This record gives sequence, structure tokens and C-alpha cells, in this order.
Amino acid sequence: MRLVLVGPPGAGKGTQAQYIASNLSIPKISTGDIFRANVSGGTELGKLAKEYMDRGDLVPDEVTIAMVRDRLSEDDAQDGFLLDGFPRNVPQAEILKKMLAEFGVVLDIVLELVVDEDEVVRRLAGRRTCSQCGRIWHVDFDDKKDDICDACGGSLYQRDDDKEETVRRRLEVYQEQTAPLITFYADEEILVGVDAAGPVEEVTHRAMEALAPYIG
Ligand code: ADP
Ligand code: AMP
Repeated sequence: MRLVLVGPPGAGKGTQAQYIASNLSIPKISTGDIFRANVSGGTELGKLAKEYMDRGDLVPDEVTIAMVRDRLSEDDAQDGFLLDGFPRNVPQAEILKKMLAEFGVVLDIVLELVVDEDEVVRRLAGRRTCSQCGRIWHVDFDDKKDDICDACGGSLYQRDDDKEETVRRRLEVYQEQTAPLITFYADEEILVGVDAAGPVEEVTHRAMEALAPYIG
């Protein structure tokens, strides 16, 4: 299974990716996670990416695409993968299509997580991430009173780009650059919308139902 999750920042892509990838035994590839690992590791890629991430803008395509090409070439991605956060604009989608054609494969499905903007803002405002295992939490919905990850005991942090100002910019960037992917993949006839409102488990259930016809 080769699948992509799309949806606005805060829709729950990372949260659902954890469960879907594990249910399907495929690697979850999040470009945001790879960039953040490079930022915290102080690499040249991280230094470059941080500038764009802090503003809520997209990291330039050539940098992002080279990074995805390397990741998709790794052994664990040969039999399937779940992409979270890539592609993020139509040029990236076109290059992904070409890249996969070179590998002799195609995308099976693009799941769009559909949720309204008020809910997205609420979700982003309370998002916390584990610095050790990367698990995603929410201060209200998970009733997190401390800053400790219940899964591994690591400390939780708030992402720099979840500040109100940056969130506003990221939502604009989504509308301008990422939302056109919905039409792009609808035209390719591989787009499936999933209602992403309601509890996490319910959304996972709907996503797995949408994927059922594609599971061999
Ligand atoms: P994305 O990867 O699309 O930016 P995340 O998966 O990081 O979104 O989710 C954003 C925030 O919303 C996180 O704090 C997460 O815990 C919370 N969240 C995700 N899905 C739901 C849900 N169905 N209901 C309530 N909160 C959710
Ligand atoms: P995310 O974790 O998906 O919310 O991404 C966080 C930030 O990383 C984005 O706001 C961008 O600055 C950068 N980023 C992630 N994925 C991409 C991508 N496919 N193209 C360009 N920038 C990206």
C-alpha cells in the first residue's frame, strides 16, 4: 500500500499516521518530522529548513524533494509507505508521480482528512509532542496535566510553529498551495475524503474503512 495523507495543519495527519501505518505494517514518512529531527540535530539541512518553518512557509521544493527521494529509496519503503506532509503543492505531487514511475510503482490512494478551521485551530493550540518517541498529544483532549509522555516517559514540548501568528500563516499556505492537491488527486481518481471530526479512534476507524478496498 502506497498512500498519502492530506489535510490542513492540525487535521490529525500525524496522529492518524501512527495508527494507520502500524495497522498496515508500512513506514510512516513525515517530512515535518524529518525536518524537525534535522533542526534539533543542528544539520545544514535543519538550519536551512528552520528559517522557513519558523515563518510557517514551505521549505523549497528542491530540498524537500531530494530528501523524500532519499527516504523512499530506503529498504523499508520498497513494499509500501504512508506519506504525511508530502506532497504539499502541485509541483511536489507531479515530481512524486514521476519519481514513483521511475521506481515502477504508483500511489494507491490519497486520504483527505476533512475538518473545519475552528477545530484545526483548537487542535494546534493544544498540541504537544514527545521529544523522545515523537508521539502526539493534546493538552485538553488527552487531559494532559503534566508534560510527560504517557507512552515512554519522555518530556513533551510545544512546536515553535504552533504559535498563533505562525499558525495563521500555515493555514494561508495550506489554502494557497496545498488545497489544490485535492483537485489534482480527484482528477487522478485516487482521492478519498474522510470525516476527521470526533474522537481519534473514530477517525482511525473511518480511515481504515476507506482503505479496506485497497488492502490486498
Ligand atoms: P497534523 O499532523 O495534521 O498537523 P496532528 O496529528 O499533529 O495534526 O494533530 C494536531 C493536534 O490535534 C494534536 O494535539 C492531536 O493530539 C490532536 N488531535 C488529532 N486528532 C484529533 C481528534 N480526532 N480529536 C481531537 N484532537 C485530535
Ligand atoms: P508539518 O509537521 O507537516 O506540520 O510540517 C512542519 C513544517 O515543515 C511546514 O510548515 C513546512 O515549513 C515544513 N514542511 C513539511 N513538509 C513539507 C513539504 N512537503 N514541503 C515543504 N515544506 C514542508
